[in-house]
Amino acid sequence: MKAAVIHENGELDVVRIEDVPDPKPGRGEAVLKVTCAGLNHLDIWVRKGRPGAALSGTHVLGSDAVGVVDELGERVENVKVGDEVIVNPGLSCGHCEFCARGQQSECPSFGIMGLSRPGTFAERVAVPARNLWPKPAHLALDEAGTLSLASVTAWRMLMTRAQVKPGETVLIHGIGGGAALCALQFAKLVGAEVIVTSSSDDKLAGAQRLGADHAINYRHQDVVECVKEITGGRGVDVAVDSVGAATWPLDFACVRRAGRIVLCGVTTGPDAETSLRALYWNQLTILGSTMGSDEDFRQMLRAVAVNRLRPVLDEVFPLDEARQAMAKMEAGRQFGKIALRISS
Ligand code: ZN
Repeated sequence: MKAAVIHENGELDVVRIEDVPDPKPGRGEAVLKVTCAGLNHLDIWVRKGRPGAALSGTHVLGSDAVGVVDELGERVENVKVGDEVIVNPGLSCGHCEFCARGQQSECPSFGIMGLSRPGTFAERVAVPARNLWPKPAHLALDEAGTLSLASVTAWRMLMTRAQVKPGETVLIHGIGGGAALCALQFAKLVGAEVIVTSSSDDKLAGAQRLGADHAINYRHQDVVECVKEITGGRGVDVAVDSVGAATWPLDFACVRRAGRIVLCGVTTGPDAETSLRALYWNQLTILGSTMGSDEDFRQMLRAVAVNRLRPVLDEVFPLDEARQAMAKMEAGRQFGKIALRISS
């Protein structure tokens, strides 16, 4: 089968489209014929590699997918051949203390499709069957293929960790990325007032069409001053950060006293200074958030279906152009999700 793979860590030129052996379903697994697979920033981290984490052999990239169940391993009861399903890319052991509590993304052996096992940028992929969920009926295939990772990450950040309430003010940095746009949609769903930031007026206008109440272009405007003006000097209730080092100091300057800061990613880097004085004196709450539990995924899917929410789709590329698709994401030129069309 054809797949987008890497043999070594590096820049975009290490991504190859190659023929690799078809996967076989292990016990409790199903093999999907992949229709469409969404890109995530995680693909960049996996490709570049982490210090000390050597790649062993050929690795298939990709975490999100929609596809059709094609083959079942032993002891699979929740899906059957022919089912149209999406993949929850979070992998957990299923039997530790944290899994027993239903907090799969807290599992010490937590992994992600395309990171800790072969990914979805392939004509076929083997997935633990309990990670397969019915495709939401109202979504087009390209939308469904990009839903999982960004949406479950945003859902857990807003609903489970920060517990955003109607009428609260939420600041979302870097609108245009998948998780940030999902966070905007979910914050509006619960009736929050949303402030978004970007360096692109086009992305800000797109966010306002999706319901953002206030837009700040950080290239021309001072984010802290604008937030103070919008909130009458009070600050926001919740800062939602998937940007990391570049926005971390702004979070502390923009949240109200006893506000919450929730962080799910570090696209601009993992090391930042923290104002301990602001943390204790303003009685702030800092919340880390990774992907989501099975229950977060279920709630997210249900909310998406009932409210007929759609992931914002930027562009769809054929699998052969995986490198071009990744280049666009890496340059930050996208508004919403980029997808790979793998079969019709
Ligand atoms: Zn576990």
